Amino acid sequence: MPIATINPTTGETVEQFEPHDAAEVERRLTQAATAAAALKHTTYAQRAAWMRSAADVLEGEAHQAAAMLTLEMGKTLVAARGEVDKCVHAMRFYADNAQKFLADSPVDDPSAIGASSARLVWQPIGVVLAVMPWNFPLWQVMRFAAPALTAGNSGVLKHASNVPRAALYLDTLFERGGFPVGSFRALLIPSADVENVIKDPRIRAVTLTGSEPAGRSVAGTAGQQVKKTVLELGGSDPFIVMPSADLDAASTTAVRARMQNNGQSCVAAKRFIVHTDVYDDFVQRFVAKVGKLVVGDPMQDSTDVGPLATEGGRRDIEVLVDDARDKGAQVLAGGSAPDGPGWFYTPTVLAGLTDDMRIVQEEAFGPVASVYRVADREEAARVANQTTFGLSSAVWSEDDEDQEYFVQELQAGGVFLNGMTVSSPELAFGGVKNSGYGRELTFAGIREFCNLKSVWKA
Ligand code: NAP
Repeated sequence: MPIATINPTTGETVEQFEPHDAAEVERRLTQAATAAAALKHTTYAQRAAWMRSAADVLEGEAHQAAAMLTLEMGKTLVAARGEVDKCVHAMRFYADNAQKFLADSPVDDPSAIGASSARLVWQPIGVVLAVMPWNFPLWQVMRFAAPALTAGNSGVLKHASNVPRAALYLDTLFERGGFPVGSFRALLIPSADVENVIKDPRIRAVTLTGSEPAGRSVAGTAGQQVKKTVLELGGSDPFIVMPSADLDAASTTAVRARMQNNGQSCVAAKRFIVHTDVYDDFVQRFVAKVGKLVVGDPMQDSTDVGPLATEGGRRDIEVLVDDARDKGAQVLAGGSAPDGPGWFYTPTVLAGLTDDMRIVQEEAFGPVASVYRVADREEAARVANQTTFGLSSAVWSEDDEDQEYFVQELQAGGVFLNGMTVSSPELAFGGVKNSGYGRELTFAGIREFCNLKSVWKA
């Protein structure tokens, strides 16, 4: 895949980038290792001050940064502004909380272990490699970078090949806030070169957000090298609607939960699992609201859904929908790509799904919703849990017993009751099953790449 900015709204190549050669990669890794050694000896207060300054820089450039995202991967400008704001919030959150999350914990009764005192101490581990996707080009990176840098690590970024401008923007952002040179370095390299970077002894751990095949490959190499990984992979999140739900609110949120980011979010609701008592009513409202979405130029504030980020991504969606239709699925809305330039796909709703259809098991990474009719909450949980994924979930019900049942039964890293999945630094983010392992955000995210050292004193 070329490293290039290609505008998905028009299909035009805006800028091509030469990949970094071996000498440049070496120079950047050396910088990152030098920065990690220096950061280890800085205080939380110093790193927090640099992170706050970097947040101020980003906030001051919010409009330009958002426009860069829209140009490179097609999310609406409104969504891109929201992404930038969220990054600024996370940077300030870790500036405020890193020291608290990584505070020493004294052992309550050291005499029980023959010590006069004992404590647990969190320390940074060095240079961490982040392999990141294009769908939230700033946010995905920031949820790693803000905790990693405030903890005293340095970061090296291999970003997706279709968002090089975002990669280069992040390459300088932290230095502009005051962090030492090399605290965060982007490598413009193809995915085939990632293996060598993981093997480099200066890299201490790897975090990857992306597809399952990429996760398997990166974790395989890291495992051979005995290096820790965090994997944030795909999802096919359920959105369950029970009879007591407020159907108007549920159907409105369902549209947003599925179509946000032009349908390209790992935690988008992808499968709508609806109790038979309210199935017809919910589906009618949902399909009507999907039909009203404005598809078009993502730079316009009136646009709800822009293009898919890549031509290949749209092809994958077309293949999934065609497979379901060919095997008998009903297409209640959309179901095709509109004529004209750009990689648009009409928001789509599929029903009447059977187990032989690929979309029942696979992730639809585009504006395509599947609806399922179920008889009771046991069947709802069974359908929800029937994929190999387990990222997040949403449940609409006013019934306390329903809510508690699904909180217990859903195989997922999150359950959002009468709402939709969102990521924010206050909550943990991550999945179970083939959606990956490890957690980002909150106290858990900053501890993933630290050494928990036991200190025992006679
Ligand atoms: P992708 O193809 O896996 O790419 C993600 C990153 O991995 C890119 O930087 C890519 O580089 C790199 N990569 C791909 N194959 C690799 C390999 N064999 N070895 C090393 N690096 C490799 O995923 P995507 O299409 O960009 O993103 C969509 C997927 O990400 C979806 O499955 C989505 O659900 C998932 N996702 C998960 C989360 C989460 O938090 N759980 C969040 C967002 C997205 P190139 O671009 O150069 O190929």
